Amino acid sequence: MAMELPEMTRIAGQLKHELVGKNFKQLIFTDKVNKLTEWGFINLKQRDITHSKIIGVRSSGHYVFIEMENGYNLIFGDLLGKILYHSSKNEIPVKYTIAFVLSNDSVMTFHTSLYGYAIALTQEEIEEHKYIGHGGISPLYIDFTYDYFEPMLKANEKLKVKKIQSLYDYMIGFQNGYFQDILFCAKISPLRTISDLTPKEKETLFDCLMDITQKALAQDGSSDEVDIYGMPGNYNRIMGNHMKNKPCPRCGAPIVQKNILGSNSYYCEKCQK
Ligand SMILES: [Zn+2]
Repeated sequence: MAMELPEMTRIAGQLKHELVGKNFKQLIFTDKVNKLTEWGFINLKQRDITHSKIIGVRSSGHYVFIEMENGYNLIFGDLLGKILYHSSKNEIPVKYTIAFVLSNDSVMTFHTSLYGYAIALTQEEIEEHKYIGHGGISPLYIDFTYDYFEPMLKANEKLKVKKIQSLYDYMIGFQNGYFQDILFCAKISPLRTISDLTPKEKETLFDCLMDITQKALAQDGSSDEVDIYGMPGNYNRIMGNHMKNKPCPRCGAPIVQKNILGSNSYYCEKCQK
């Protein structure tokens, strides 16, 4: 799955505790880095982020920003993978994508199974970045109310419901994990067109989005993702590949898997209308 808002929020808090006040002494790159550099996910061979004090760590949606005194932010996000912290060099796992050795010889490793950002950008570059700079706000943000959500749907009403998870110019925080649970909760099919949703369905969708997000956050993220110490979260996903052909927890009909807009969706055709 993917690292979404609940996981990245937790990780940012942990990284803040471990990294602030230290600096990166050395970066160790593996072969995987070349491909990801080509794809634009990594630029750390070009940007020197070593020997600059780490002054802050914050999360925003499904991104983590590690702020350095030299003006660079090391950004992780859109990540299929994990970020781990090891108190000494001896504990580094055999496989990783990049290892960041810290000034006290502890190490942060960045692992990606397919893609994910590990990119150093100035504040100005963040704002200009096609993906990281999008203007959306996280559902944790105080301005993310139904009065914000409803016009967001209205402005995108020709799109399929599944697309709501990636309306990043409006809302950040999700990839393709939690939104399946949100749609299950709201009893809405990912295949619907947004303009077909009734006012009641839109309200339910908003409530489910907030509820599932808060629940996952309170449970330290999903049980199929890990924090920087390798500990999984406690949120058990309702929908996902573990549910293929299994009975729907609500109505018992078999859960279907369909590729929608380029990624798999799991949902109940009977009770998600
Ligand atoms: Zn069902």
